[in-house]
Amino acid sequence: MAIDDVFARLEALATGLGAYRAKVIPVDRVETDVSFRELCAKNVCGNYGKCWTCPPDVGEIDALIAKLRSFEYILVYQYVGTLEDSFDFEGMMDAALKHNELTAAVRAACEKEAFRDRLYLCAGGCRICPVCAKKTGEPCRHPGEALASLEAYGVNVSRLAAAADMKYINGQNTVTYFSGVLFSI
Ligand code: SF4
Repeated sequence: MAIDDVFARLEALATGLGAYRAKVIPVDRVETDVSFRELCAKNVCGNYGKCWTCPPDVGEIDALIAKLRSFEYILVYQYVGTLEDSFDFEGMMDAALKHNELTAAVRAACEKEAFRDRLYLCAGGCRICPVCAKKTGEPCRHPGEALASLEAYGVNVSRLAAAADMKYINGQNTVTYFSGVLFSI
């Protein structure tokens, strides 16, 4: 199968599972920035040091960027949720949950692909467990399934959206989340 056909099939796979848009791009078009780690350290989200796949426990950013760059391609996909208004916190949480379900479904489908290597990255910290074991001082309960975020790997997600011909923000009263599957053929 031609490489473009493989990409089209993967993109259709993601949109068929509920992604608003999906596109495969070469990893050399992914912009990374080590300064994102400083933003994480400010702990605006409250997850810094509270999740095994968030900084600082996820690992040194230089090593993670090097790992990301060891892959050939990334399947970028986005989920767009609808909100009642810009203060609709419940709607944002519901969209985050649906995005997590989409990420799990894309992951399960990509596990069947004959990639040489693969890495799944999501939006925000890992949400597989209701309370991350890091918070209770225990080892990760699902180390083979735990997901780190694109940002934890230093990815500039707004630039990633542009590189994949997607909108970072999809209009008033919506919320958009991004995930990615890094792979080599
Ligand atoms: S799988 Fe559970 S314990 Fe492991 S990083 Fe994710 S939320 Fe935390």
